This record gives sequence, structure tokens and C-alpha cells, in this order.
Amino acid sequence: MRIVVLPGDGIGPEITAATSAVLRAASERFQLNINLEDHAVGHASLEMFGTTVRPELLDAVKSADGLILGPTATFDFKEEARGEINPSKYFRKNLDLFANVRPARTYPGRPNRFGAFDLVVVRENTEGFYADRNMEQGSGEILVTPDVAISLRRITKTCCDRIAHASCKLAMKRRKRLTIVHKANVLKIGDGMFLDVCREAARSYPGLAVDDVLVDAMMAHVVRQPERFDVIVATNMFGDILSDLTAELSGSLGLGGPLDVGPLHAMAQAAHGSAPDIAGKDVANPISLILSMALLLAWHGERTGGLRFEAAASAIEHAVGAAMRQGRVTRDVGGELGTAAAGRAIVEILQSDAASATPSG
Ligand code: NAD
Repeated sequence: MRIVVLPGDGIGPEITAATSAVLRAASERFQLNINLEDHAVGHASLEMFGTTVRPELLDAVKSADGLILGPTATFDFKEEARGEINPSKYFRKNLDLFANVRPARTYPGRPNRFGAFDLVVVRENTEGFYADRNMEQGSGEILVTPDVAISLRRITKTCCDRIAHASCKLAMKRRKRLTIVHKANVLKIGDGMFLDVCREAARSYPGLAVDDVLVDAMMAHVVRQPERFDVIVATNMFGDILSDLTAELSGSLGLGGPLDVGPLHAMAQAAHGSAPDIAGKDVANPISLILSMALLLAWHGERTGGLRFEAAASAIEHAVGAAMRQGRVTRDVGGELGTAAAGRAIVEILQSDAASATPSG
């Protein structure tokens, strides 16, 4: 399996190094024959090549089996015409990664204030309010006069339908519950369409329990009773905001391990940003990107019938759970380890699990 690795900005290089170390250990244990191919992206690429994402990278990624993208300082990138492109948007749009699947769960043995839960937010990734990807040409934001701005939101039946089916399929593999999050009381046309299409799609999944919740009320419900939810589907911006909340409820923003998925490609990416406030201090939690990488392996295994990849993904998730239980984690989740040491702890657990699983003699 060939994987392109783009470390990114801020804490990106630190968490990507820890993730690559875990990936190498998993490759060795499960004989995955993984080749990692590193390239610059974000500020490093802007300095070297005059653009945050070189167009050649798209071909490199298309011909690879997967992509790991570290967080980038997207807020710094103002003008696409000057090469300041949001790499995350670039790959989501050009690889048609329409589903952003964002699991959030608590871990036994770690304190959490909101009770145990295990849910997944499935966020539409290619349209909505995201001005940098919702237009064929130009931006979805217009400055009409110096004092007047218009931000356009695009909702299409096609995108609603595919995210709805992806969510229903996932829910059918889990606890068979789907919650549609929307604001159809105000955005009657756009969110009305999203709600109708999701309800219609859900009808073709017998046994699937479906409800819907207004996005503002959802903020209260998910804090009050997170265990009530299984799979939650939302449009792009609502899903983005909601999934940061659910990651933090699970213990830390650094725990949410999402995967961007499309018909042909998938991209592992942390749920959080480049965290400039803690960059270079060896304190960032690498688990979000590590879990995301595990989802990438599982996705590859499911597509190719490679059971070893799915076994590796489960082993990584198990090792993360063990590290959490043992407190061999970073400070944001109550441990004392640095980023690199937290990655090494997961590698050691993976290796010792392998040793105990090997029959002696
Ligand atoms: P952020 O997600 O980077 O950080 C929010 C808070 O969470 C900070 O206090 C940070 O220290 C903490 N945090 C984040 N990741 C953590 C980790 N792994 N371990 C421990 N703590 C962690 O959000 P921000 O500060 O608003 O954004 C910083 C930059 O990241 C901005 O330029 C923003 O545009 C960009 N961003 C990029 C992506 C992406 O590349 N996919 C996503 C979101 C934000």
C-alpha cells in the first residue's frame, strides 16, 4: 500500500511523525508492505514552491492508495491567486471526498464528565457554506460594497442523497439509529431539501430508526445525553461545528479521528487544526491523526478484500484504547507524555500485543 504523507503546519509535523511511526509498526506486524511518500504542503510548500499545494501532488495522490494530510494553517491562506490554497479543500474537492466521517467515543478508564458514548458525525464535505469549494469558478463569498458581504450556501439533491446513503449504510453496520441535524425551520429551502432527501433515503433501510433534531437544540441534546446518538448526518458547516463539540465531549479535540471518503479515494486527517498555540512544544495529542490513519487502513482493506488491513486498523484502535486506559497519553487527556512519547507508547502496545498473540514454540 502506497500512502502519500503531507505533514502540514503547526503541530502537523509532530503528529504526522507519531502517526507514521505507528503505521510502520502496524505494517511490520501485519505485513502490510506500506510505503510512505512524504511531500511538503502548507507554509513549507509556499516557501519552497510558491504555492501551498503543488498541482503535481494531485497526480501523486491519485495514483497512491491513500493520503495522510496533517493540519494546515488555513486561516493564514488568503489569496488563491497567490498560491495560498487550502490543501484540505483542494483534496476534498479534487478527489470528490464527499463524506467526512467523524467518530467520537469515550474510553473506559479515562475520566469524562458527560458519560460514556460512541457516535459518528457524518458531515457533507463538498458544498454548503464553504465558499472555497461550493462554486465551479470563483468564490462563494462576494463583497458587494466595502460594507456589504454575501456568503452563498449551495445545497444539491445529489450531494444530500449521497451523504444520506453513506450515513444510512454506516448506521446499519452500527446500532441502526440515524439522526438528521438541520435548520429547516429557518433555511426552509436548503435544509428542507436536505431533510426530505435524508428521510427519503432512510426509507430504503429496513430496521433503521430515524429522527431529526434542529441544530441549535442539538448542541444541548448532545451535551445532555450523548449516549442517545449513533450516526448523525449534517450539512457541511453544521457537521464541522458539531463534530468538534463531540470530539471535545469525548475528552479532547485531539481524540476525534475522522476520515474523508469519496467513491475512489480516502484521506486521513485530524479533526482539529494546526494549533499554533502549542506547535513545536511536543504536547499535541497525536491520537486524532492515528485513529484517522487506522480508518484509512480499514477503508483500503474493505475495498481490496485485504483482511490484514482491517486487522491492523482494529489493532491500532485497540492499542489507542489501551494507551488511554494506562494513562500513557498527552496532557490534554490527563497524561504526562509528549507527542512523540505518546506515539511510542502506542507502538509499544502494538508490538507487545503481537508478542502475546504469537503462539510460543
Ligand atoms: P485548532 O483546532 O488548531 O485548535 C483549537 C484548540 O484545540 C487549541 O487550543 C489547540 O491547542 C487545541 N488542540 C488542537 N489540536 C490539538 C491536539 N492534537 N492536541 C491537543 N490540543 C489540541 O483551531 P484554531 O486554533 O482555531 O486553528 C488553527 C489553524 O488551523 C487556523 O489556521 C485554522 O484555519 C486551521 N485549521 C485547519 C484545519 C485543517 O487543516 N483541516 C482544520 C481546522 C482549522
